[in-house]
Amino acid sequence: MQRIYLDNASTTNVSSEVLNEMLSVFSQNFGNSNSLHSFGRDAQALVDTARDRIAKAINAERGEIYFTSGGTESNNWAILGLALANKNKGNRVITSQIEHASVLESCKKLETLGFEVVYLPVDSTGLVSIVDLIDKLDQNTILVSIMSVNNEVGTIQNIKTIAKIVHEKDIIFHTDAVQAVGNFAIDVKDLEVDVMSVSGHKIHAPKGIGALYVKKGIKIDNLIVGGEQERGKRGGTLNVPSIVGFGKAFEILTKNYVYDCKKVKTLRDYFFNRVMNEIDDVELNGHQNQKLAGLVNLSFAGVDGEALLFLLDLEGIAVSTGSACSSGSQEPSHVLMAMKVQAQVAKGAIRFSFSKSNTKEEVDYVVEKLKASVAKLREFSTVRVKKTTGEKNV
Ligand SMILES: *Cc1c(COP(=O)(O)O)cnc(C)c1O
Repeated sequence: MQRIYLDNASTTNVSSEVLNEMLSVFSQNFGNSNSLHSFGRDAQALVDTARDRIAKAINAERGEIYFTSGGTESNNWAILGLALANKNKGNRVITSQIEHASVLESCKKLETLGFEVVYLPVDSTGLVSIVDLIDKLDQNTILVSIMSVNNEVGTIQNIKTIAKIVHEKDIIFHTDAVQAVGNFAIDVKDLEVDVMSVSGHKIHAPKGIGALYVKKGIKIDNLIVGGEQERGKRGGTLNVPSIVGFGKAFEILTKNYVYDCKKVKTLRDYFFNRVMNEIDDVELNGHQNQKLAGLVNLSFAGVDGEALLFLLDLEGIAVSTGSACSSGSQEPSHVLMAMKVQAQVAKGAIRFSFSKSNTKEEVDYVVEKLKASVAKLREFSTVRVKKTTGEKNV
């Protein structure tokens, strides 16, 4: 059976170019980048190159990039570290209701530490209300954290506008850009971002590697203590092979993202148009066009999302019912709830996320299987409804 992977917002494969750069690091350049001998210096040189590649890709300085264990750690560090380091200036933190769990849970933690957190609402397309943001910014606000792109519905926020408004009040602006990388040029100076989280495994680098960009001069407390690594800001021996792969992935996407985005967008639009034309009663969750090139989130009326996921899985097709973190729980997605999507519709939501390695033939196969699976589940649910309402089965 062929296997088709349409869950690239959960994670991506490590590309062959990235893997190739990493392989020799495991066996030959295995030194501890903190060691003073030649093995250490070689490892350090590799780390420097990777750091430079990432810095260049986002228009930052080498010294503003700190390696972490991934997007989750970067978000935890940003929220907790920035709030604690700047608590002398106030205790209000503003974020949105649709952030990744690693931001939301960090904010909950801040609340237990005496901070006041405002969770901004979004509209039905998933856009944060700028009016609400302006209304909530006050003298006491020390940090605003709004994600660049939502991982469930793909909506792209107006980050530059938000950053400008936040900076007019001299407040720090952090963004979770994990899903944004590779989808548009991320220039931290142009976007006026102070602190930004990125992750490797969403851009064809390994899992367990990420980075936090911290603009020079921004005060941030440590999250991981215990060593002098990363200029004393993040303890722990560096994961040199993954850092090398991460740097390579950034270099590749800086070169290719315009072309690759066009490719995934064409595939996604082809898929979307076929689904809308060939299956009845499908709803798009998210923004019509201000969204990630390779992502579409759909609800099929009368169909349970998880049931559909399992039927597609039987056909070798991998999709998601929202964010991988919340799947498995019975709760409807917090993102769709914040968008005021009806609970019934939210329970039916399926996220299809494409990568540059998907093909049109794969999409054709998926559409056929999707049509059959949706029809099967709808037939089943009408039988059920008729039974429970006492109607005769036909
Ligand atoms: C995947 C993801 C994260 C978490 O990154 P990890 O590297 O998996 O910890 C954070 N934010 C968003 C928007 C994500 O999509």
